[in-house]
Amino acid sequence: MSESIAQALNAVREIIGTATRQAGRPDGSVALVAVSKTFPAGAVREAWQAGQRAFGENYVQELQAKATELVDMGIEWHFIGPLQSNKTRSVAELAHWVHSVDRLKIAERLSAQRPAALPPLNVLIQVNVSGELSKSGCRPDEVVELARAVAALPGLALRGLMCIPEPSQDETVLLARFGVLAGLRERLAAEGMALDVLSMGMSSDLSLAIRAGATHVRVGSAIFGNRHYSSDPV
Ligand SMILES: *Cc1c(COP(=O)(O)O)cnc(C)c1O
Repeated sequence: MSESIAQALNAVREIIGTATRQAGRPDGSVALVAVSKTFPAGAVREAWQAGQRAFGENYVQELQAKATELVDMGIEWHFIGPLQSNKTRSVAELAHWVHSVDRLKIAERLSAQRPAALPPLNVLIQVNVSGELSKSGCRPDEVVELARAVAALPGLALRGLMCIPEPSQDETVLLARFGVLAGLRERLAAEGMALDVLSMGMSSDLSLAIRAGATHVRVGSAIFGNRHYSSDPV
């Protein structure tokens, strides 16, 4: 590793700070979720030692393994990956946040399986802001109805919206996609559902997302380096 995780984390914090100020938003109004998927528990520990407390995972088995190994560290776990209905139980038990709720059935299972001793699980509705260019997330025209139903579930606290735009080099396109999510939050507020979170922006586009109103950015490779999946030749 040419650069330590602590140094990379500081660089990302600087980028977030600069983008926040340039957007005329208050310092500290954008939270960093460090996406540790595919990286070992030791990498999470290193980031934790550098002050990071919120971590994102995409795969249920990885969340289970790291949450178990790092149980004493008081980590705030964000589940951000696609969620199948047969895997909701561990997420309901281990996560503090789920960013990827895109249908009612998943929300109902998470609510039912959330242990009564824990506070309600914070959830975001993932919206497909890229039309046919993307598969995950509900359609923008489904958000209001889904939000109403999710908000009524006792085991969940609906907090906001999340999106992953299709990859693009074009800032105008990305800003438009992020703008769709921000607009949907306003729409929900007008319908009486005031939500405080917009989860958008990753390593390559976090400054743009902050300009468009992100309250949470999910950053992986800029902190931990390039990912190697187990099927990849390493
Ligand atoms: C992997 C992932 C990220 C982080 O992506 P980077 O480009 O590595 O910052 C953020 N959000 C989701 C949903 C992801 O799957």
